[in-house]
Amino acid sequence: MAKIFCIANQKGGVGKTTTTVNLAAGLAKVGQRVLMIDLDPQGNATMGSGIDKRQLETTVYDVLLESASVVEARVKSEKCGYDVLGANRELAGAEVEMVALDRREKRLRTALAAVGAEYDFILIDCPPSLSLLTLNGLCTAHGVIVPMQCEYFALEGLTDLVNTIKQVHANLNKNLQIIGLLRVMFDPRITLQQQVSEQLKSHFGEKVFDTVIPRNVRLAEAPSYGLPGVVFDPAARGSQAYIAFAQELVEKMPPASALAGASPVPAPEPMDAPPVAIQDPNGL
Ligand code: ADP
Ligand code: MG
Repeated sequence: MAKIFCIANQKGGVGKTTTTVNLAAGLAKVGQRVLMIDLDPQGNATMGSGIDKRQLETTVYDVLLESASVVEARVKSEKCGYDVLGANRELAGAEVEMVALDRREKRLRTALAAVGAEYDFILIDCPPSLSLLTLNGLCTAHGVIVPMQCEYFALEGLTDLVNTIKQVHANLNKNLQIIGLLRVMFDPRITLQQQVSEQLKSHFGEKVFDTVIPRNVRLAEAPSYGLPGVVFDPAARGSQAYIAFAQELVEKMPPASALAGASPVPAPEPMDAPPVAIQDPNGL
């Protein structure tokens, strides 16, 4: 069965979509079968995977409202090597339309059960909010990957995300764990970023991925070509980092198929809320 991960952080512009599409492409490059789900009505992950959101007849919206199955709504991104369950602006309406429905936070989970065996990884790009859409992602997932920039206020809001994850874990999805924090848009020339990065490591230890994604203009250019950086320019530093991250994830979290006959991998512990001190600029 597929490992299902949400890429979440309720801040906008922190690299969620960039991480989702590049990790999907990186995993595909190392031989994994991947489904990428766009849960953001902006549809950036859809467009950034070479799928024109305006041309889609069925999207994740139809899946959430049960007017289409995942099999009917997914499309293959030939260029990127993974499948896409896309989104467009219609998805913004799902939030309101689902409020009155039963099992509203478990609709994605129910729908994905039919395709779980076809993939090694399912990645979900979440919108920048703790909305019903994000909740659908969290109720479905085994884990959350949190991309973050190493800045003073990067951890602002992480407490909310951690508390939401704890609540979902306690009430709706016993499987949910924080898989790790991914340092993105990193510039080693900025001393402050190095300091925050060190603090993250010392506070969260194993929960911080070893791979660091550098700030790299090729990653920012790639979406205008409708491609993840990993496909657009595989040799770029940022692309290489995402491929290394895909490998780190595969090693840390072997897909279920690789576990046959092996001893089970212990699930990571839920992560505690960050200490207040790390948000305090004077504490640095
Ligand atoms: P989110 O999905 O969290 O809103 P995005 O992935 O859309 O964030 O990233 C925000 C902006 O930062 C985009 O313009 C994106 O191209 C750019 N960006 C993301 N990661 C990097 C990086 N490592 N280097 C340079 N630019 C980046
Ligand atoms: Mg995004």
